Amino acid sequence: MSAADSLLLLLLFAAAAGLGWYFARRSLRAPAPAGRAQVSAEYFQGLNYLLNEEPDKALEVFIRMVDLDADTVDTHFALGALFRKRGETERAIKVHQNLVARPDLPREARARALNELAEDYFKAGLFDRAEQVYGQLARGAVRRELGLLGLVRIYELQRDWEQAIGAMDQLASTSGRAGGETVAHYCCELAQEAVGRGDLLAARHWLKRAQGADRQGVRGAMMRAQVAQLEGDHRLAVRLYEQALERDGGFLVDVLPELRRSYAELGKAGEFGHWLEAALAKHPEWRPGVAFAAIADGGFDDPTTRQCIVDFVASNPILTEILEMLRPTLASDGGRDAAIRRISRAMQRIARASPRYRCNVCGFSGNTLYWQCPSCRTWGATRPVTKFRFEAMLDPRAVPRESGPNR
Ligand SMILES: [Zn+2]
Repeated sequence: MSAADSLLLLLLFAAAAGLGWYFARRSLRAPAPAGRAQVSAEYFQGLNYLLNEEPDKALEVFIRMVDLDADTVDTHFALGALFRKRGETERAIKVHQNLVARPDLPREARARALNELAEDYFKAGLFDRAEQVYGQLARGAVRRELGLLGLVRIYELQRDWEQAIGAMDQLASTSGRAGGETVAHYCCELAQEAVGRGDLLAARHWLKRAQGADRQGVRGAMMRAQVAQLEGDHRLAVRLYEQALERDGGFLVDVLPELRRSYAELGKAGEFGHWLEAALAKHPEWRPGVAFAAIADGGFDDPTTRQCIVDFVASNPILTEILEMLRPTLASDGGRDAAIRRISRAMQRIARASPRYRCNVCGFSGNTLYWQCPSCRTWGATRPVTKFRFEAMLDPRAVPRESGPNR
């Protein structure tokens, strides 16, 4: 038995001792009612079974206890939690089912029992039953938000985005909880599925809804630009990609190559450089991001981008030292420019061997942009990495791989 379990048993014991004291005091003043004495005796019998590692017998006794007052209800909750924690979900389900079945249970305790029962089913992987119980809780009079949150969790897991939107809408009207950003992600998931099956009309429908739910969402803007590209409307794509960057410059590494491609498709490759110059005058904080995006993508032929790379190298002490070491050997080949070009090529290899995205909540990293973190399930917390991992340079066998939280 683990330390946590022993502690819980100790707590149960303390509660029982309190009950015993209460009954003893009562018996000094007046004879205890027969029902009460019965409860107390059964309670101790149940605890005894628990201590002797006979959980099924303990369960039988606790479930048989007819008199559910505030103390015994709490014991049932503690017992259910203990079983679930030990992975004995079937026993936890029995305890919570027994509570839910009581017609005399106060409304608040009943809602709590429903929530616990749904958690048991969820942990046991019985998602359809969990959904049923969460639904019952969501339709009830108290703690409806617990039921709706449980439903959202199940729909997300099943990638049933339309149902998830419905549950989030109800949650917003029940508890006033703002969920616009999450709903926008659900709409973007539906748009992504539509793009996957080539249904651009449906994709545009869902992206419009995403915009309605979250006017400032960067994902929606990026996806609308992607759909415009697929439809061959590069003028619109340029406008939407630029809008996406105005919303969140952190996505430069994903957006810049696409933006440059759309400029090229319009036959205006030169205008990309002009736009970048103006954008950097407005957002000087984008300079390292532009350098990183250009190095990772491999294209850095315009003067503005090249200057960003030079500044980036100059701001890093290790790179500056390498630059100084390379310069004399490359003197005949344009000196500084040639050295910068060589460093860029080396950094490109490092960039490609490093994880591209990282969740800023749990640290999960990998090469896929997951808008919902697969580890901590947070939406919109995964961001492009714009720092080089120099240790990757020391190990040429380093290959990109997904890593767990904070590894
Ligand atoms: Zn995470």
